[in-house]
Amino acid sequence: MTVVSGIQPTGKPHLGNYLGAIRNYVKLQNEAHDSGGRCFIFLADLHAISMPHDPAELHASTLEMVATLVACGLDPAKAVLFNQAQVPAHSELQWLLMGTARMGWLNRMTQWKDKAGKNREGQSVALFGYPVLQAADVLLYQANYVPVGEDQKQHLELARDIAQKFNNDFASEDAPVFTLPDPYIPKAAARIMSLRDGSRKMSKSEPSDMSRINLTDDADEMAQKIKKAKTDPEPLPSEIAGLAERPEALNLVTIFAALDETTPEAVLAEHGGKGFGHFKPVLAEKLLEILGPIRESFVELRQDREVLDAILARGAAQAREASRPTLNAAYNALGLVRG
Ligand code: ATP
Ligand code: MG
Repeated sequence: MTVVSGIQPTGKPHLGNYLGAIRNYVKLQNEAHDSGGRCFIFLADLHAISMPHDPAELHASTLEMVATLVACGLDPAKAVLFNQAQVPAHSELQWLLMGTARMGWLNRMTQWKDKAGKNREGQSVALFGYPVLQAADVLLYQANYVPVGEDQKQHLELARDIAQKFNNDFASEDAPVFTLPDPYIPKAAARIMSLRDGSRKMSKSEPSDMSRINLTDDADEMAQKIKKAKTDPEPLPSEIAGLAERPEALNLVTIFAALDETTPEAVLAEHGGKGFGHFKPVLAEKLLEILGPIRESFVELRQDREVLDAILARGAAQAREASRPTLNAAYNALGLVRG
């Protein structure tokens, strides 16, 4: 089993990123490691330049994201952790695949349509072509599984189409250059909502900092945010059906359940009948129990540029090594002379 996944190093990571994505990476890393498979987790810094960006911010966020991932439990001894910019094979394979990807396929990508809006002419070529870079990201490592959210499924199908066409056009049937990757849909990834509005998801890009718990918040900030979180005056019900019309209350119960690795039903069985004067402090305590050590380790790591550089250098060396055979096979299949 080979698993590949990337995360954009933009903005401050929050509780939703942790419970919905990063914690899952840690589980995948452990499963892959225990079963003799491999897990590649990369920072998609090359993707970040497809949109207008601030170079100094990208630089700082990339280092912060490495510190975050390691603080959350990604272990460079178990997973290959690297950034794309240090592994030129990603850009190289993207170009090789540009000859196979069709304009029509990219034109149909809903993310392109959403992000470009009415101003297609004004977008960077990188924004249009970035699903091809994503295809290169996973095909380089012969990934079988790619953890993807709903929003990325179409891009993974595109990667399969590109791999299939390339194999058909340039490889023999018994020696395909690329493995066709399958999506990996985690069993129960929690979807965490804003603390201020239970109908919107917790997001890095939401202007109000009170809407989210950042992984970098200190104990006081976390407690304050939970205390101020929007709720209602009713006590918690004992049954989940009782939360149907109470999105903010449901969100706090969901957060507690996800942190405690249990179900909302089990949380209600214990806390049903009690009000938020009781539940909020319990939740704040649970939050601190899980995120406190992560934050401590993040703060320490973030200051240690040498350690971060060493982690990235080690991951990049492993990724270069692992991707070389596929990259060479692609160059050869296309008839390119490289001496
Ligand atoms: P942005 O607002 O810039 O899109 P974001 O908060 O949505 O930022 P991303 O970088 O887009 O964060 O997402 C990183 C990962 O975290 C993705 O796998 C995404 O599915 C997951 N994720 C993001 N927000 C949440 C959330 N509220 N609950 C659960 N998972 C989330
Ligand atoms: Mg997002």
